[in-house]
Amino acid sequence: MPVITTPASSFIDGSWVEGTGETTSRVNPAAPDEVVTTYRQAGPQELNQAINAASAASRAWDRLGVVARGRILSTAAALIRDRADEIARVMTAEHGKPLAESRLEVDASADTFDYHAGSARNPVGTEYPSSHPEERILTVRRPLGIVGVITPWNFPLQIPAWKIAPALLQGNTVVWKSASHTPGVSTLLMDVLATAGVPAGVANLLLGPGSLGSELVSHPAVAGVTFTGSVPVGHHIRGIVCGRGAKLQMELGGHNASIVLPDADVDLAASSIVNAAMGSTGQKCTATRRVILVGDGHDAFLDQLRDRVAALTLGPGTDPATQIGPIISASARDEVDAAIDQAVHEGGQVLAQATLPASDGYFVAPTLLTGPTSMTICREEVFGPVATVLHADTVDEAIELANATEFGLTAAVFTSDERTARRCVTDLDAGIVKVNAPSTGSELHAPFGGMKNSTFSGPREQNSAAAAAFFTHEKTAYLRLAPEEA
Ligand code: NAD
Repeated sequence: MPVITTPASSFIDGSWVEGTGETTSRVNPAAPDEVVTTYRQAGPQELNQAINAASAASRAWDRLGVVARGRILSTAAALIRDRADEIARVMTAEHGKPLAESRLEVDASADTFDYHAGSARNPVGTEYPSSHPEERILTVRRPLGIVGVITPWNFPLQIPAWKIAPALLQGNTVVWKSASHTPGVSTLLMDVLATAGVPAGVANLLLGPGSLGSELVSHPAVAGVTFTGSVPVGHHIRGIVCGRGAKLQMELGGHNASIVLPDADVDLAASSIVNAAMGSTGQKCTATRRVILVGDGHDAFLDQLRDRVAALTLGPGTDPATQIGPIISASARDEVDAAIDQAVHEGGQVLAQATLPASDGYFVAPTLLTGPTSMTICREEVFGPVATVLHADTVDEAIELANATEFGLTAAVFTSDERTARRCVTDLDAGIVKVNAPSTGSELHAPFGGMKNSTFSGPREQNSAAAAAFFTHEKTAYLRLAPEEA
């Protein structure tokens, strides 16, 4: 069995630490006989070490001041850019996404560190008038303390960057339980942070299973938790964290709709929707899962959609011709295939399907379905390259259909009528609504987050200027001068 020697290890108090848990291997999803890395999982003992280290490092990191912390984040951004090829190669080997997509993610992660580094010089509080002539009233922000970070594998660098960069900038220390499928990328990020000058104990990484994440969020010393992942795990975490009164931020799953009006630009709508539904092998929380056609006159659009899906090229992420890489694991492949079978069993029809490569890799054929809205796939998140075409007579009906799931992450509408576009922005239950653009993709300086079960109804922003609101406590200081001496 070929082994690509990507190192992966937990990192605690400034040192690489071999865990005391099970030995685990991560294989290349495009070639499962290749082991990308082997490591020992962290367990409760390493969790306690990490919490103790984060606690001991807290005071000095806070005292260092925000401008100095910003400089360290800026160095981290530069190091990510210097090592971009290496990080992208490991990402593609572990995750499967095409190398070009891995490169884009690495660049966006460097931008995220730069963005937060730049905000180190933003104003830190507000001054209010006082009824007392010799008094000033100021708000100040203080770090939460230890922040627990739990991340998914689908954006193994970008999502951690969204969370860790602002958490550190605001003076918190971090214990990060990263996703089990992408340990090499997490290890590289910790290496970058340590090299950039993040002091020992300030940022700690635990490579471990979901159960370790549960222990992390339950720990009484963890003052804030930021989580991105699925709805069931998110709700489990919400129960624990809210139950003990700590601060929580979550971004969860989606079941995003793209509404297409008869006046839509056909090329733009078809290319955007195929990209949003099938790109990254459909493993984006913001992926289009339902395509809702309003009224009649969609023959040209449907022809294009079918042709584009059928023409997608699958293969290993290292092949420049590959548009769609493998899915993350054998079990994920089986779940997606089972969901397609179930849809067909429930009255669905396959409108188009791409060709599978001759490979032992974990490949799923990108699939376009149609069928009754009662199909399970119309309401449950299937994390793979599958989208279902549905029909609505009116815009009202389309909006009602789009809103008819527990999720509310993103939505898109394709139309040349501004009135319809505005209506959709107002009435769609989604935290992000795109007009004439894919449901995927976001800018790191704009608020990101969902509604309904796609989020937690607390501060939603992890990647905008408002990140400071989550990663700090705001205090109000009343500063009154002592009486002057006579
Ligand atoms: P997941 O919920 O299975 O796992 C996410 C993280 O939680 C992993 O690190 C995992 O080890 C950990 N975990 C698992 N069980 C846990 C437990 N009981 N307690 C604490 N931590 C636990 O999700 P995934 O499969 O890694 O990622 C896919 C999901 O993430 C999809 O539902 C997708 O929509 C969602 N997602 C959402 C966003 C967003 O911003 N809204 C972005 C990316 C992914």
